[in-house]
Amino acid sequence: MALQVHQLTVGPLEENCYFLVNEDRREAIVVDPGDEGAVILSHIKNLGVRVSAIWNTHAHFDHIGANAVVAAQTGAPILIHAIEAPWLESEMLCGAALFGAPFVPSKATGTWADGDQFEALGTQWIVRHAPGHSPGLCALISNDEKLVVGGDLLFKGSVGRMDLPGGSAAAMTQSLRSLFNDWSKDDFRVLPGHGPVTTIGQERKSNWLVQEALGPGLEG
Ligand SMILES: [Zn+2]
Ligand SMILES: [Zn+2]
Repeated sequence: MALQVHQLTVGPLEENCYFLVNEDRREAIVVDPGDEGAVILSHIKNLGVRVSAIWNTHAHFDHIGANAVVAAQTGAPILIHAIEAPWLESEMLCGAALFGAPFVPSKATGTWADGDQFEALGTQWIVRHAPGHSPGLCALISNDEKLVVGGDLLFKGSVGRMDLPGGSAAAMTQSLRSLFNDWSKDDFRVLPGHGPVTTIGQERKSNWLVQEALGPGLEG
């Protein structure tokens, strides 16, 4: 059974909020509700689903801005890597202060660690800690759905910036190597935090930042 993926682009940084939907269960997970809480809530209402969780790929302000309102209205737990759980409550850590963006604090209900596996929406998921853009960024990967929920790890034709506090070019290289060599296959769809959806194979073939990270001698 395939999950449905709906996408809303929200806020001034055009962040992608995703709704992963299991139609049979009338159940959804909201990924990175970054801004425009009212729009997100009305989309949930239109879908006619129960929201069973809010996933934050990482805690930059543009990915978490509507956490509080969506959690309050749906009762859904907020999940994120333990390193960035405190960022949800800090205007400084999440970058809102740095960018002069409005900030509404929220609180993690539970936290992830690398390699965690769990069932959600009738699918098995694995948490892959993928630092580089931010220290606690996680990709949520479903082998059954061939899906990478990657936040700002990888974009169509680009990768996440590494110059923000806690960013690391060396960590990004390692995360990209793991993603392309170990965690996924070329036919996996990638849901990025900004810009259009892509695939692992497409990025392996045409994304020079990925090719640089994977190094010479690998096909591309
Ligand atoms: Zn980010
Ligand atoms: Zn972002």
